[in-house]
Amino acid sequence: MGRYVVREAEEYYDMNECDARGYPVKKIRYTGVEYETTVDPEGDYVESGPDGWEIHTVIGQKEVQAPPLTLYKNSLNLIVGEENYVTHPDNHSYSVESSDEAVATAEEKGFYVWIKAVGKGTATITVKDIKSGQKATVTVTVIPLCPDGNHPHMIDLGLPSGTKWACCNVGATKPEEYGGNYAWEEMKDWGNDTHCDELLKETNRDIANTKHDVAHVKWDGNWQIPSIKQIRELLENCESEWARLNGARGRKFTSKINGNSIFLCAGGNFGDYFPGCGYYLSSTLSSSNKDRIWGLSFDPSYADCIAGFSRQQGYKIRPVSR
Ligand SMILES: [Zn+2]
Repeated sequence: MGRYVVREAEEYYDMNECDARGYPVKKIRYTGVEYETTVDPEGDYVESGPDGWEIHTVIGQKEVQAPPLTLYKNSLNLIVGEENYVTHPDNHSYSVESSDEAVATAEEKGFYVWIKAVGKGTATITVKDIKSGQKATVTVTVIPLCPDGNHPHMIDLGLPSGTKWACCNVGATKPEEYGGNYAWEEMKDWGNDTHCDELLKETNRDIANTKHDVAHVKWDGNWQIPSIKQIRELLENCESEWARLNGARGRKFTSKINGNSIFLCAGGNFGDYFPGCGYYLSSTLSSSNKDRIWGLSFDPSYADCIAGFSRQQGYKIRPVSR
């Protein structure tokens, strides 16, 4: 149970009775609500207030102020299908209400107000402390990730190189799906298997736009596996945060340039050994080790480029286009 500090009481009423300790029982009123409580013999400190609240009063003052209701965040930018939350104090019971359920819905669960983006627009979520009547609001702005359901789409993040990122992975039919697990230079979805192909098929260190580029071959020729340079450009020009889209976990990358977003699901690597992490392969071989490839690695707390991807395992591929 949390604490509630009342600095000033509107009114006191003597109830002409005592509690088990012999302290007089008083009724106090603040913010228009009456509560029974007890006052210690000095009369300037009230403890064990309603529902275990601790109430301090100042004798001689007649007004009451409850602390304002503050939420962890007061605005959220979401993409359609995304769920996010704001935390509220753990003191009391809260009710939640959306100004437009066609834009965003809200539900109170534990310490959180869960908000789900339904459609394009802006909605105000009002959180109300049922006891004190205090309110706080969250402004939710929702934009669509894709223009329609015919994936894949090219998402323009306004990147300096002109690179556009696909909305979904190779082998996936929508943004929140994992898709296949592809090893570098391989066309096959290796699923949960490893393989032992030690021979480099391509003499170049970079397979983008070659016949060994699975995005280039399986999608149309406008697409390719991103180079490590293009992945770095994504990281440098976007804010990324852990997110949830239609039930799938992953990271959302939102452009600092034009506000558009892509969502990369955290499908783990082959066999989903690390289901809370994302491993996305690049087209670029490590310069120091021909068994290692550069790629994008992330989990709930970070996103970065590493040259630690194995040529014998399958990883997710998020194509790019110019
Ligand atoms: Zn799409």
